[in-house]
Amino acid sequence: MGETLLGKRLQEWVCVVLCVVLCAAAGLLMARHVRADAALALAALAGVLTADFASGFVHWAADTWGAVDLPVIGKVGTMRHLYELVYSKRDYLILRRGIPSPIHPARTDVTPRIKNITITQSHVARVTHSRQIACCSLAFAVLWIKRSVQNFLRPFREHHIDPTSITRHDFIETNGDNFAITIPVLARIVWQLATYDDDTVRDRFHWIAYWYLCCIFVAMTNQIHKWSHTYFGLPTWVVWLQDCHVVLPRRHHRIHHVAPHETYFCITTGWLNWPLEKLRFWPALEALIEALTGCKPRADDLKWAQKRS
Ligand SMILES: [Zn+2]
Ligand SMILES: [Zn+2]
Repeated sequence: MGETLLGKRLQEWVCVVLCVVLCAAAGLLMARHVRADAALALAALAGVLTADFASGFVHWAADTWGAVDLPVIGKVGTMRHLYELVYSKRDYLILRRGIPSPIHPARTDVTPRIKNITITQSHVARVTHSRQIACCSLAFAVLWIKRSVQNFLRPFREHHIDPTSITRHDFIETNGDNFAITIPVLARIVWQLATYDDDTVRDRFHWIAYWYLCCIFVAMTNQIHKWSHTYFGLPTWVVWLQDCHVVLPRRHHRIHHVAPHETYFCITTGWLNWPLEKLRFWPALEALIEALTGCKPRADDLKWAQKRS
């Protein structure tokens, strides 16, 4: 466990350093191409709005549809279910009664008859060792996906129960994951600026500016969210940015923290919260998904709160 945490911490450090270096390099390379015009301002604004919408969408998805025991994945999370899925009923019966398996390695007593089925040598041979390996691999893959999804969802749910816990995370822990997401895009921007000739850069500069601003705000989302929960000791310039609504203001974000947490999901600048609320965007999306899948939004909220307590 200690090694896992150490590995995670190291990975966060590497991502933060890499992201900052790429950001600075892209900024320096972009500086000589900047020509202030309305189109550039529009591209930058679109980049920030994209980051804000992305923060809202991911937050909404995790708050609304994430579950402690996800349907299907939750059910097939055991080795036994995987065996039942992978093997035919007859093979499964043979396996359970006669063949040594990873679950019951000691069981080798072959039963010649199972109900009215006579077991022949060819039946037994069909349940091969390779199929046991395939079955185990599938089981581990499902368990890994289940664990990853739960690790992704946990911070969102914990945050509703203890909103101030985020303020106890240091800069690296707060920002490591979001900085990591932007690295491929920033690397591409640096590569474009470093290798394209001036005419090509000029042609594509608005797109480059769009992605650059989008990356900066995506990377800063968790830090901005943390600031919105910090009531003491914030630097003056951060409070000024919040007061001017350049980043998510504290009072604005408080609206999301009123149960059942079904609105104001955008946590980068929060600029899209009001228009999306007026458009009833999230309820409409939830109604559509419920109509298509039958899944109810926030169905496991109570279950999760009980599990935590
Ligand atoms: Zn939330
Ligand atoms: Zn919050």
